[in-house]
Amino acid sequence: MRKKPEVRFRKANPKRVGAAGAPPPEGGAGEPDGRRIGRVLGLLEKAYPDAECALHHRNPLQLLVATILSAQCTDARVNLVTPALFRAFPDARAFAEADPGEVERLIRSCGYFRQKAKSIHACCRALAEEHGGEVPRTREELTRLAGVGRKTANVILNEAFGVPAVAVDTHVLRTSNRLGWVRTQDPLKVELELLEMTPRRWWGRVTLLLIHHGRRCCTARKPRCGACSVLAACPYGRKETAPSSA
Ligand code: SF4
Repeated sequence: MRKKPEVRFRKANPKRVGAAGAPPPEGGAGEPDGRRIGRVLGLLEKAYPDAECALHHRNPLQLLVATILSAQCTDARVNLVTPALFRAFPDARAFAEADPGEVERLIRSCGYFRQKAKSIHACCRALAEEHGGEVPRTREELTRLAGVGRKTANVILNEAFGVPAVAVDTHVLRTSNRLGWVRTQDPLKVELELLEMTPRRWWGRVTLLLIHHGRRCCTARKPRCGACSVLAACPYGRKETAPSSA
């Protein structure tokens, strides 16, 4: 069973929270503080003890390719196409030398397949030519690769190399705002806020827990606030479930 890390969470920095000029969250849960964030993450850990990266992979390259494919596509769909893709192209050199049409054929169902095939080819060519066929271990090097933005780089750092990082996807962005931890739609600001508010050892876990919560409960259109384990600490949920809003 996973040993629970000791948790010490910091207060949100009021100078940076809401720096985009967004209005404060309504709902009455008050200013987010370290204890509340720690309690919420503890509850989410209980709710999703087996939260882990949903993209199937066996090495950093496979995770990198799967993450590129996951843009505008479900992880489940990506997991359907990657077994055949990774059998056909087992390493970066094989992807770099691949017939583009063959890659496109194998990833077609993931959407934007032409662009994704181009990104995978350019990315793997750079890996083969500049990194000895290996995926680099720094954010700076990762984000210089085709198809790799800051979020993808943080996923790779966390999952493939065990380097703590917060990856802000649509679920992390939405849930952290609803919980009142941040007040901005800027992913970089959300990332920096979460880095500041949570201990380094929790950074990867924060990402996975908020993604799982966003997928299973705090969904974009109809969040299941009434069944949510962190309702008491959520300004958005408290407002949604208040008797006057029924
Ligand atoms: S109470 Fe509602 S809005 Fe808040 S985290 Fe839970 S599901 Fe999301």
